[in-house]
Amino acid sequence: MDLEYLNSEILKNYINGKWVDSTTDETRDVINPASGEVLAKTPICTKEEALETIKAAKEAFWKWRTTPAQSRIRYLYDFRDALEENFDDLVEVVTKEHGKTLDESRGEYRRAIENVEAATHIPSLQMGYNFEEIASGIDEMVIKQPLGVFFCVAPFNFPVMVPAWFWPYAIATGNTYIVKPSDQCPISMVKQFEILDEIGLPKGVVNLLHGGPEVVNALVESPDTVGLSFVGSTKVGKLLYKKCGEVGKRVQVQGGAKNFITIMPDANIDRTVPNLITSFFGNAGQRCLAGGVLLTVGDVHNPLKEKLIESTKQIKVGDGMDEDNHMGPLASEAGMKKVLEYIQKGIDEGATLVLDGRNVRDDESLKNGFYVGPTIFENVSPEMSIAQEEIFGPVMPIVNVKNLDEAIEVIHNNPYGNASSIFTSSGKSARDYQYLVKAGNIGINIGVAAPIATFPFSGMKDSFMGDLHGQGKSGIDFFTEDKVVITRWFD
Ligand code: NAD
Repeated sequence: MDLEYLNSEILKNYINGKWVDSTTDETRDVINPASGEVLAKTPICTKEEALETIKAAKEAFWKWRTTPAQSRIRYLYDFRDALEENFDDLVEVVTKEHGKTLDESRGEYRRAIENVEAATHIPSLQMGYNFEEIASGIDEMVIKQPLGVFFCVAPFNFPVMVPAWFWPYAIATGNTYIVKPSDQCPISMVKQFEILDEIGLPKGVVNLLHGGPEVVNALVESPDTVGLSFVGSTKVGKLLYKKCGEVGKRVQVQGGAKNFITIMPDANIDRTVPNLITSFFGNAGQRCLAGGVLLTVGDVHNPLKEKLIESTKQIKVGDGMDEDNHMGPLASEAGMKKVLEYIQKGIDEGATLVLDGRNVRDDESLKNGFYVGPTIFENVSPEMSIAQEEIFGPVMPIVNVKNLDEAIEVIHNNPYGNASSIFTSSGKSARDYQYLVKAGNIGINIGVAAPIATFPFSGMKDSFMGDLHGQGKSGIDFFTEDKVVITRWFD
């Protein structure tokens, strides 16, 4: 496998089993955020190229749908093996184009592989059910059938894992697929398709199409696609959810987040602090499951804050390729500027900056990258922008509340509901939290409540639109239609 970096080449699409140059004149630079170096260019493809891709996936559908499931999943086993063989090289590509540390890229790849493995269980996951004698001599059954061409529109922050929440299940259930990766971080997906090409998956079964709104709109509007899995900002997600509704398309939208983490006075502080550091500052805060606001309950505030500051100061910021570093840069210049703006807003709105991550920018060796170090605010009120809006960076706003009821009220006044965690040694507080808090993924003494592949990746309120989540049984239902068959045989 050729894992040379692409030296500013324009990336190709993978359509109908072939690498194809785009006809567009418009490109976007893919930049290594640790150094500012241009790694490649993403073609911002056209509507015509989207239609060509849909045609290929549609033509491949019937042959693939009539291929027995056991044969379909054999390709996934081969793919999994190839990922393992090339693991270290593939991990490097994620770090180069995204900026996260090698260890974080390994974690991302592990999750992607887990999804490929889960999709190999399709012969049991896709089973229907039946019941005999619903009336005299009559039986009834449900079979779960594939539907056609599905596609995903993916974000920049997990360029490999997020598409893997969808495409392996879609093709294992007998559908064909189009991946539209983030135009900011598309190289990792190109590398995945190089492997898919090598293992000889039949042409048209999975396709890679680069671009932005023009191709996404064409995919949504086409009568020849059946469903969209979108992961990205709530703003774009809402737009696409509405469009899918208008054209009658299946859709699951996993949107933005502001995740609240509540620390009760009875929490084990020493065990809690490392979890909080990972939750708020892991992946430089660019996780949809990242801690967004820390809610300290009562007098846990001061002792927790002191330990947090002390531990956070130990985080070494730098190029993710260096194993000694704990945190890489933000993934883009725009992302960095947004974080810096929020830090300024926090100061302007009256919060107290107790750890200023902007200082890392004084380091000469980091000057070409998009670095902001871990930042902590206290005296934050729930109405402030830094406590309300998704920053998507390494910023921890701390809001002190009186009790659990007040914590839950603050959480419920926020529009998002992706994840929320409580740290406590009380079963009663934990149970109340899981029962009451309106968030799709709840952590109890867990800082990043990330479901494994066999559970749905949930989300509520503005963090999710649709009925069926990605992964788990929900994911299988999304990619299949239940057909009911009622039978009677005469003498
Ligand atoms: P984004 O919304 O800017 O882009 C996501 C995708 O949509 C990209 O592929 C992009 O090319 C495409 N796109 C952008 N504008 C579009 C438009 N007008 N019409 C059609 N398509 C368009 O998101 P991002 O910045 O890449 O990702 C970060 C966001 O993703 C954060 O809000 C984060 O919380 C969210 N996210 C959510 C989850 C989840 O599971 N809920 C997981 C990961 C990331």
